[in-house]
Amino acid sequence: MTTTQSTAAQTTRAWLDIDLGALVRNGAALARHAGVPLVPMVKADAYGLGAVACARALEALDPHGFGVATVTEAEELRAAGIARRVFVFSPLLPADFAAARAARVIPTLGDPAAIAAWGQGGGGAWHLAIDTGMHRAGIRWDAIGQVADLVRAHPPEGAFTHFHSAERNDGSWQTQEDRFRAALAVLPAMPRYLHAQNSAGIVRRSPSPWSFVRPGVFLYGVGSADGAGLYPEPVVHLRARVLELHDLQDGDTVSYSATWRSVGARRVATLGVGYADGYRRALGNRGAALLHGVRTTVAGVVTMDMTMIDVTDIPCALGDVVTLIGRDGEQLISVEDVATVADFMSPYEVLTGLRQRLPRLYRESVI
Ligand SMILES: *Cc1c(COP(=O)(O)O)cnc(C)c1O
Repeated sequence: MTTTQSTAAQTTRAWLDIDLGALVRNGAALARHAGVPLVPMVKADAYGLGAVACARALEALDPHGFGVATVTEAEELRAAGIARRVFVFSPLLPADFAAARAARVIPTLGDPAAIAAWGQGGGGAWHLAIDTGMHRAGIRWDAIGQVADLVRAHPPEGAFTHFHSAERNDGSWQTQEDRFRAALAVLPAMPRYLHAQNSAGIVRRSPSPWSFVRPGVFLYGVGSADGAGLYPEPVVHLRARVLELHDLQDGDTVSYSATWRSVGARRVATLGVGYADGYRRALGNRGAALLHGVRTTVAGVVTMDMTMIDVTDIPCALGDVVTLIGRDGEQLISVEDVATVADFMSPYEVLTGLRQRLPRLYRESVI
C-alpha cells in the first residue's frame, strides 16, 4: 500500500520489515499440523504488526474467522472490508452490545447477566467462555448448572476454554481439558463449535480434537522453546539506519551515565532508534545488532531516540542498515533472544511494545 516514494521516506531512520509471506507460511504450517481451520488472533493490532495487513494476508488460508480483543479492533477490520467472522475474546459489557452488533462481531460471554442481556437484546451468535482454571474470563467449569436455563433460552453456537500454561509439561492443560469436557457434558445441547488451543496448544496437540484453533504469537514468528519440530519463520525485522559514526579514544564513554568505556581506539555508530520506538532500555550494553551480516553489540544505554553500537571491526558508512530484531544474511536475532536479553521479558511484550513511530513496511518476502 505504500508507494515507492513514501517507502523511501519511511526508511530514513528506523522501521519494521514485516514478511507477510512468512506470516502466511506460519499459519499454513499450523493449519496442517492441527488439521482444522484457523481463527488467527489479530488482537492488539496483530501483536503490533498491523491487524488489517495481517488479516488480509491470512485470508489466503481461508480462516474460519479472526479473533480480536475489543469492538474497536473489530470495527477496524470491518472498515478495511474484511467480511469474515470476527470474535471478540474479552468479556463485553452490555454497554458494548450495540456497537458489537453493528460490527457483526461474535461475543464470548461467561457472565450470566451479560448472557441474559445479549439474548434479550436480540441475540445473535455468541460463544460461551468456560473458565477451566485460568480464572480470567468465563463461567467456572463446575458452575455451568447456574447458566443452564439461560443457555437453553439463548443457545451459544460455540463453547471454548483457554489454557493458562499450554507451553509447559506440568499436566495442567490435560486437567483443563478434562474440566472443559465435563462442563460440555452438562450443557443442555452441544454447541456447534468447540475450541481451546492457542499457539503452544496447537504445537503440542496434533491433530486438534476441536472445531478450530486460535493461534496468535506463532503466526508472528515466536515459537515455543519445546516446539515439537514445529518452529515459525521470523516475520518481524527491526531495522535502523546509521546516522553518525564516532571514532573514540581510549577512555571515552558512550551514552547516559557513561556505562560503556572505550578500551583503546573504538568506533561507534549511532542508530536512529530508541526506547520510544519500543527498543527497550534494558538492551543497553547487551542487545545484539547485525551489520552486513556480522554480529555486534549495543554500546551504552539505549536512549529515547538513539542507540549506539560498536562497529570497530565492521566496515560501516552513514546510512547503513542495522538489524536489531530479525534476519540479516545468515544471522538471526529472534524476538525470543531480545526478550531474554531484555531482563527476561515476554516475547509478546517485545512485539506489542514496538511503537507506532516505526513505519510498518509489508513485504512478500524478506531476506
Ligand atoms: C491471545 C489469545 C490466543 C492466542 O494466544 P497465543 O499464545 O498468542 O497463540 C488464543 N485464545 C485466546 C482466548 C486469546 O486471548
